[in-house]
Amino acid sequence: MDYENRMVSNEYLPEDDGDNPLRPQTMADYIGQTKVKENLQVFIDAARLRGEALDHVLLYGPPGLGKTTLAGIVAGEMGGTLRITAGPALERPGDLAALLTNLDSGDVLFIDEIHRLPRTVEEILYPAMEDFAIDIINGKGQGAASIHLPLPRFTLIGATTRAGQLSAPLRDRFGVVLRLELYSPQELAQIVTRSAHILDIPCEPDGALEVATRSRGTPRIANRLLKRVRDFAQVISDGIITGACARQALDRLEVDELGLDMVDRRMLQAMIRHYAGGPVGLDTLAAVIGEEAVTIEDVYEPYLMQIGFLSRTPRGRIVLPAAYEHLGIEYTGQLTL
Ligand code: ADP
Repeated sequence: MDYENRMVSNEYLPEDDGDNPLRPQTMADYIGQTKVKENLQVFIDAARLRGEALDHVLLYGPPGLGKTTLAGIVAGEMGGTLRITAGPALERPGDLAALLTNLDSGDVLFIDEIHRLPRTVEEILYPAMEDFAIDIINGKGQGAASIHLPLPRFTLIGATTRAGQLSAPLRDRFGVVLRLELYSPQELAQIVTRSAHILDIPCEPDGALEVATRSRGTPRIANRLLKRVRDFAQVISDGIITGACARQALDRLEVDELGLDMVDRRMLQAMIRHYAGGPVGLDTLAAVIGEEAVTIEDVYEPYLMQIGFLSRTPRGRIVLPAAYEHLGIEYTGQLTL
């Protein structure tokens, strides 16, 4: 199964388009991430009191945790418009310049995957963030002239899976750096209950918790599983998502009680069988399961580490005893951490 087609992929899938009614519009509707919300609210209130734009914000954490959603909420609170783009979409400096010069004062520019901005584009961003101006070279050779363009006071919100991937000059220009954490099953159950209510799906608390515990700490996955479980509920339990119905549906979808799917299990089993549980280097692991190293780091590992199944050491990845137990394999190894 390739990663894009995984039921528990936390990447955006086209079917998530119908997600929009589920996207919280206000801080009050944004469940969890308490620390991030509280900090952000202080900075928003202070900026509003001063009548200034909010300082630039860097959000980091795995995909599907609510970075874009949060950017929309910030724009709403600041009374500005949210403009969304992504690092790989900005190929030339002109692409970014066009976006920047069309902003209004107080707008929020959201750049997803900001670590993937080409170098030449990133360099335009430095003066834009710091001095609210850009210099554009017009013409070529001797006749070339530099035009200085002032920009409105805007807020840049950058999103990345890992802050460490950003160049130091770019990272230093963010006044606020916030890390989003994986959600607890209880928080995800609240999100599932809220989504079920919006989509008019009858869902019992047990059912919501069952979907939540299998969603790898990720709201995007929780909403996707909810929609799939709804299909089963219509056929097997009068349209009501009960605990039993959710369990049956998710078992059929091969998402186990901890949210692991075939790919996770295959990866852990390969590490145990062929490498005595590790340490296994990231590139070896990528070759063994046929995935890209970055996908393993950004998508598979955060959750497996969170639940104590995997550990990253300088010498490679190690499978922890809890994973053996979950997979029903006897743990005999000595951990050399
Ligand atoms: P990211 O930008 O980090 O990839 P998104 O902001 O696109 O993630 O969030 C994915 C989906 O998850 C959203 O459409 C929204 O429905 C849901 N979601 C994310 N965060 C929350 C939250 N804190 N409370 C409720 N729903 C959320």
